[in-house]
Parts: sequence; structure tokens; C-alpha cells
Amino acid sequence: MTDALVLIDPTASTIEPADLAAAQLPVTDLSAHRGDGIFETVLVTASASTRTVVSRERHFARFCASASALELPEPDPDLWDRAVEAVIAEVVAADPSIVEFGVRYAMSRGGQPAQGRSPGVDSEGVNSTGANSNNGGPQPRGWAFSVPVDETIKRARAEGVSAVSLDRGYDAYIGSKAPWLLIGAKTLSYAVNQAANRYAKQRGAEEALFVSHDGIVLEGPTANIVIRRGDRLLTPSPEAGLLSGTTQRLLFDHASALGLQAEYADLRLEDVKSGDGAWFVSSMRTAAALIELDGNPVANDEELTAAFQSVIKAG
Ligand code: PLP
Repeated sequence: MTDALVLIDPTASTIEPADLAAAQLPVTDLSAHRGDGIFETVLVTASASTRTVVSRERHFARFCASASALELPEPDPDLWDRAVEAVIAEVVAADPSIVEFGVRYAMSRGGQPAQGRSPGVDSEGVNSTGANSNNGGPQPRGWAFSVPVDETIKRARAEGVSAVSLDRGYDAYIGSKAPWLLIGAKTLSYAVNQAANRYAKQRGAEEALFVSHDGIVLEGPTANIVIRRGDRLLTPSPEAGLLSGTTQRLLFDHASALGLQAEYADLRLEDVKSGDGAWFVSSMRTAAALIELDGNPVANDEELTAAFQSVIKAG
């Protein structure tokens, strides 16, 4: 797949193609130092005549909600759509037979306060709270680029994954009491999620499954968890302390067509282990069956895995 990158100036409302292999971000950018920004990753499915951005609106609505939680400027739908379309056009032009790929788009707060400048304001006009002063100073930066559906994703879809449960370190439903935790915002601060993935791999599993300190199942580091119990499709409520997934909501919208009743519920590890099927769902992996949790086998509903994957890819 060809690498495509578009730089986005949210203030000037402009986009500009750029070289993904070249340096683009100043080292002073707050996304680099503080993870101070937001992002989305969308799956694009393509055929000879169509291109579908799966859950385009769900992603953009969450992007706007994340911007609001971080007090970043409200993203302009037309600008971000143009950027995503430009990346898609470049990828498809380079390989008209491509069937799927991802586009990741992000917005950073901008420059970092510089040392030795007037108190509170950096060389690019960012005040020390990190809020952009907007008076001739630096403005948020955006970018969108292509990401491949790699072999790990394909294998997870085809074979399912094992997981180990990990304590997320906070109690369920803490978000309303601690809004600064930004639970529910898709920020660029993913070091904890990456560490959880490494920790799981060191223990011989492909995935981690976060559980609240008081024992409520939350999500994976980059995916939501859904389980089937009889004809019910269950997932933890986003209010329990997790990201509200576009893929999980897409599946819930199609649940009745699959003969299932979709519900949010508090789940414990025992519920996942004893269910009639469990899946990690996210934009790029679509649905990957969870077939082993903490060394215990989990029921593998291959038929529903295939149904989930095709419903998701249809967007
Ligand atoms: N939870 C977390 C922490 C994630 O990072 C992601 C996606 O990357 C998800 C859930 C799944 O979200 P979506 O289905 O919108 O990709």
C-alpha cells in the first residue's frame, strides 16, 4: 500500500499533501511531549466502484467530543472530510485493486511553551495552561495518513486472540467524578495502552483486557469487548470508564438483524469466560474472537464472527 499523508491547518482551513517518510512535526509540538491531542482511525473498504469510510459520522462525532473534552477548537467537518478523501484518493490511485486500508487523522494542540520567553506564553503564542491564545500565536496542527491492514490484524480476524486481564487502576464509573482523566476522549496519550499490550505479550497473550479496580470489565487497549449470552449481545457501558467504540455501536445498530438483543451491562471476568462468545471489536480489526482469557478457553462462535466482520466492513 502506498503511504499517503496530508497536513491540515485547522485555523486556515487548508490541507496540503506531504511526504509521510519525511520529518513534519516540530519537536516542540505538545502532541510529541504531552500526548496533547486527539485522533481517530477509520477503516476504508473499497471495491471497483465504491469506497466506504466505515462509521464516518460516528468517528467524526467522537473526534468533536474529544476536541471539546480537551478544549481544542471544534473541528470543521468539511476540512477533515477533504483531508480523509485526499488520503483515500492517493492510496486508491496508486493501487486501484486495494480492498481495505485505514486512515488515521489527528489534531495536536500545537507548540510547547519555550524557556526564557515571557511568562505564560511560548514563542508560538501558547499560554502555560496549554490553551491556544489565538492572538497571532501557534495554532493546532492536524494530519491524516494511510495505515495498512497488517498481518497481525488479518490473523486476529481469522484465528481469534488470547488475552490476559489487567487492572486498569481505577474503579468503574469514576469518569464523572474525575473529568480530568478524560475517560471517553480518544487522546494521543496512549503510552499506558501500549504498555498494557507489551505486558500481555510478555505473558504470551495477544491482547490485554482492562478490568476496573473493583472488578468490572472495561475494554482492550485499542478495542471494545462484546460478548454473546444466548440471544443477548452485551458490552460494558462507556460510563463505566472506557472509550465509546464506533464499531461496537455499529454492531449494536445491526444486532436485531442478526437475531440478537443488544444491551449495555456491567460484566465481570466470569461473564466473559462463561459466555457463548466474546469479541474484541475496533475499526481496523473489525471483530476478532476472544478464544482464551487468562488461560481459560472462551466459546468460539465462528459463524457470528464472520457475520460481525461482514456487517462492519459494509459500514
Ligand atoms: N477502546 C480504545 C481504548 C480504543 O483505542 C479503540 C480504538 O482504537 C476502541 C476502544 C475501539 O474504538 P473504534 O471501534 O471506534 O475503533
